[in-house]
Amino acid sequence: MGGGWGFSGELDRSARDGDSGNAAGVGSWSPAPVVSASVLLHLAGFAALAADPILWDWVAAALVGNHAVLGTLGMWPKSQLLGPNLVRLPEHCARRGEIALTFDDGPDPAVTPRVLDLLDRRNARASFFCIGRQAAAYPDIVRDIHARGHSVENHSWRHSNAFALLGLNGLRREVATTQAVIKGITGRSPQFFRAPMGLRSPLLDPVLARAGLRYAGWARRGFDTVRSNPHRILHSLTRGLAAGDLIVLHDRLAAKTSAQPVVLAVLNLLLDELAARGLRAISLPMALGFRG
Ligand SMILES: [Zn+2]
Repeated sequence: MGGGWGFSGELDRSARDGDSGNAAGVGSWSPAPVVSASVLLHLAGFAALAADPILWDWVAAALVGNHAVLGTLGMWPKSQLLGPNLVRLPEHCARRGEIALTFDDGPDPAVTPRVLDLLDRRNARASFFCIGRQAAAYPDIVRDIHARGHSVENHSWRHSNAFALLGLNGLRREVATTQAVIKGITGRSPQFFRAPMGLRSPLLDPVLARAGLRYAGWARRGFDTVRSNPHRILHSLTRGLAAGDLIVLHDRLAAKTSAQPVVLAVLNLLLDELAARGLRAISLPMALGFRG
């Protein structure tokens, strides 16, 4: 993976400078250039309309085009253009042969405990991006994830397909409710957020900054929610895999082989492959030296 889209912004600087805390960049927010330009475009459009309403067609076309651009950027999981997006660990982690293993959409009572057992057996660590209401339904599993040395992160409250279309209040509710539930279960506030399906709203960044969260995407995914052939999924995950990459799998809603959720077979194969390549799976806070 090239360095064109990797670690950026405050997170990059804090990691590069060896900052072991998590203060830098959290709580402060400045809009990405694309977002600033969009705000200016809207203001200019309204000013033009106030000056001469006959310009309505032109203003409407410009604003529709602007929203199309923002929507496209929000659907691009590796994009840095709507704000910092962690898809690779800092270079010092890559040099140590570390990759960040992440699981989305859980916890699931039938799958997550088996994933945890597999990770334990291989001494691997991971970050679990949990859906808030799943976490509330299965607090014992969330507690177990945390107790076994993994991190529990925030993947919204409902995992709504319309998440990226929510207004500021809706986004705040999704993020804050999940933060509170996970903190209540584990005693630790999540430090990372991933949007449902990786679809990101231009309004999300200030909400995350206020909640002390950073956005995490991924570098490699295997489409394990729709594919049932573990070797095909493994191929997508490992083709071009580089030390430092973030990998995403799903411990809930994964497709099934005839015998079991495909994620279990893939995880076994993946951990074999990582070991063969001299790579080690760790959680995001471990990689970045953040305190729990
Ligand atoms: Zn998800």
